[in-house]
Amino acid sequence: MAESFEYAVIGLGALGSATAYHLTKRGHSVVGFERFGLGHVRGASHDTSRILRHSYHTSSYVGLTLAAYDDWAALEVDSGETLVTVTGGLDLFPAGGAIPVADYVDSLGAHDIAHELLSAAEVQQRWPAFRLPDDVTGLYQERAAIVPAGRGTAVLHSRALAHGADLRADSPVTGLRDLGSSGVEVAVGDTTYRCRKVVVCADAWTNPVLKGLGVQLPLDVTLEQVTYFQPAEIRQFEPGHFPLWIWMDEPCYYGFPTYGEPTIKAAQDCGGPIVDPDDRGFAPDEAMLDRLAAHLAWMLPQSGAAVRSVRCQYTLPPDRDFLLDMVPGCPSVVVGLGAGHGFKFAPTIGRLLADLAETGQTGVDLTPYRFDRPGLTDPAFEPNWMV
Ligand SMILES: Cc1cc2nc3c(=O)[nH]c(=O)nc-3n(C[C@H](O)[C@H](O)[C@H](O)COP(=O)(O)OP(=O)(O)OC[C@H]3O[C@@H](n4cnc5c(N)ncnc54)[C@H](O)[C@@H]3O)c2cc1C
Repeated sequence: MAESFEYAVIGLGALGSATAYHLTKRGHSVVGFERFGLGHVRGASHDTSRILRHSYHTSSYVGLTLAAYDDWAALEVDSGETLVTVTGGLDLFPAGGAIPVADYVDSLGAHDIAHELLSAAEVQQRWPAFRLPDDVTGLYQERAAIVPAGRGTAVLHSRALAHGADLRADSPVTGLRDLGSSGVEVAVGDTTYRCRKVVVCADAWTNPVLKGLGVQLPLDVTLEQVTYFQPAEIRQFEPGHFPLWIWMDEPCYYGFPTYGEPTIKAAQDCGGPIVDPDDRGFAPDEAMLDRLAAHLAWMLPQSGAAVRSVRCQYTLPPDRDFLLDMVPGCPSVVVGLGAGHGFKFAPTIGRLLADLAETGQTGVDLTPYRFDRPGLTDPAFEPNWMV
């Protein structure tokens, strides 16, 4: 037995770092284990940017977004860094598309969040870079924002360290053993640690980490790709002239205004192949780029040439909902999973996971994100990754 800590956090991407941050800020002794280096590019929390937005398909997620804005603001105060860049966001719903605009309007309405519904002509008048079919409805939400991905995760690391967390890179957890009321044993190679509670934020590697507890989840890992394009006339794509956008159909595409460089980023959501995260490539996929470029060619004809692509993993339950819960039969182990859309909530998920680890309760209704929901327990559940 090497050492004892009150809490261990396994995985130090955005979610695990945020959990370690909140737990140490509350005065607990916390060790965090990361199998690779801090800030590595093999998971889901690297690269430049992520979308933060209120607009979501369920009222539960919209409620969480209200907390997300508050928690990012609190992190800005604690770190002294500007992290949230408000640009406005436009969800584009083609008539008869795979994602109903009514779900979004109702969910925003349930929380009295201001938004505008715009015709295709109104969208093009306000943001001239777009070329849209007449049957498209735009849902504009002025608070939509960009948060930094790699930098945001690094800020969470540095704040966790500043509050006293012991973050250990190159430390793969190789086993967990439930000791009941005595806590949990965490094996890192030949070394064993004893902790009161453990929080697992291993994303694509959640199942290998939980294996020793006899728990396995129906998760698919997809290898996604984002691409940066360089428009000749950059001004029309700068914040203030151009919003975040999401094409709400199957296939679903999304993109950003410029962010710290004269390029615009875009991608297909859930456009990549299912992979083994331990046996995946990092090279750009030409077919994925061609699909994206074909969409941009008609919708944003002045988006310019592709200059670079970056790969990144989604870890997807069949219902694409988060997992924020204690392991059934093993309440000393809490699991957090962002389901390929969790970055915007990272400071909030970290706070909620810290609550669950501390007391088993959060004061927030986390029913949709439990282990015992149909999306994780019903083998006949029809997968749906559209959000
Ligand atoms: C291309 C792309 C675009 C996205 N866009 C958005 C967006 O716009 N908005 C949004 O909200 N979300 C977005 N997401 C999703 C979001 O980025 C992820 O949900 C989030 O980053 C997941 O964070 P994580 O910490 O759970 O996972 P990760 O960052 O993958 O961290 C998990 C960590 O666990 C470590 N680990 C695994 N096994 C072990 C072990 N045995 N021992 C120790 N460590 C271990 C891994 O090495 C890894 O570092 C996007 C994701 C991608 C890929």
